[in-house]
Amino acid sequence: MTKAAEDVINLIKNKGDKILTVQIAPAVRVALGEYLGYEPGTNVIGNLIGSLRQLGFNYIFDTNFGADITVMEEAAELVERLKTNKKLPMFTTCCPTWYTYVERLYPELIPYLSTLKSPQAVLASIIKTYFAEKMKIPLDRLVHVVLAPCEMKKEEARKKEIWVYPDQPNIDYVLTTKEFAELIQEMKIDFKNMPQGDFDNPLGISSGAGAIFATTGGVMEAVVRTAYFLITGKDLKKFEITGIRNAGLKREGSLTIANFKIDILTVNSLHEITPILNELKTTGKSKYEFIEVMNCPMGCIGGTGQWTADKEILAKRRAAIFAYDKEHSARASHQNEYVKQIYKEYFERLGSKKARQILHTQYVDRSEEDAANFTCEFPPKN
Ligand code: SF4
Repeated sequence: MTKAAEDVINLIKNKGDKILTVQIAPAVRVALGEYLGYEPGTNVIGNLIGSLRQLGFNYIFDTNFGADITVMEEAAELVERLKTNKKLPMFTTCCPTWYTYVERLYPELIPYLSTLKSPQAVLASIIKTYFAEKMKIPLDRLVHVVLAPCEMKKEEARKKEIWVYPDQPNIDYVLTTKEFAELIQEMKIDFKNMPQGDFDNPLGISSGAGAIFATTGGVMEAVVRTAYFLITGKDLKKFEITGIRNAGLKREGSLTIANFKIDILTVNSLHEITPILNELKTTGKSKYEFIEVMNCPMGCIGGTGQWTADKEILAKRRAAIFAYDKEHSARASHQNEYVKQIYKEYFERLGSKKARQILHTQYVDRSEEDAANFTCEFPPKN
């Protein structure tokens, strides 16, 4: 068992007066079952929530709700950039591997990145502010755990730029899907016979748009569903924008929303995005207005914490995500009643001062940090 899984078991066993909260990434629910005897592509969210309750977690929230909030702010950011024709192309992602790549190797392109935190970081920030304040839970009693599809989400949790408070991480522990399966087995949880559980509210109810963040093209599709509403005041007649969905390494296309023609690109390979970055760095131009970049095959469903090289298994996980999107009564983030409620109660409006403080982030030029830690000389100095 990994140290991360051992640490969370110790946390559960020695809970004392702590309040334990947990959030579940969209990709985890369609892959966890494979480690516990289910067919690939089985969505085990009900048993997963039931198991977390039995383990002693007090509040169980959905990273998909964080995705809905990310979409609201990011759609507004995209519309603003389109209207002003500034900082285009806008790069969207929920992938720390990608933005760390930009911070290290292309820091001059940081202004093109959307300023939104990832759904993981957005929800954790809301839990440590809005939720803690609303429930009157002192932060030293609130311990927050994340279930995530990849190791890089642990790196992200350590990045101070995503914290709300300078001396207080938003996220205390991150477990990958595989590590959580180990924990389930170690704690002898009867996962298959677990009564189905429901998320807690208001941070547990999400739209279908929040779910599709798990696979490549999903972040962009979710943002476009709401950007269309912000531009036209209407909902899309058909929410599935299949042209954006990308099961390969790279897919390009074009969208028209009212007067805006938007050339788009979705990529899940840092190798494939590099020529586009080089062109943007050299010329300051790109043929695209909106680009999504993820690192793993088919996005987070193929993350290192639930890794498989089997394309059929990835396709089944992906199909489960799109089926889950359709199960939701709200298909776009702006339709989520709980999103409307939190803006009314707490953030006031899109892009407010409070929203910027809690939900947005800053990226950092890390090229010098790497230069200090890494040299490469040919021929070697004596
Ligand atoms: Fe992690 Fe891969 Fe998703 Fe990036 S694409 S956040 S590396 S699982």
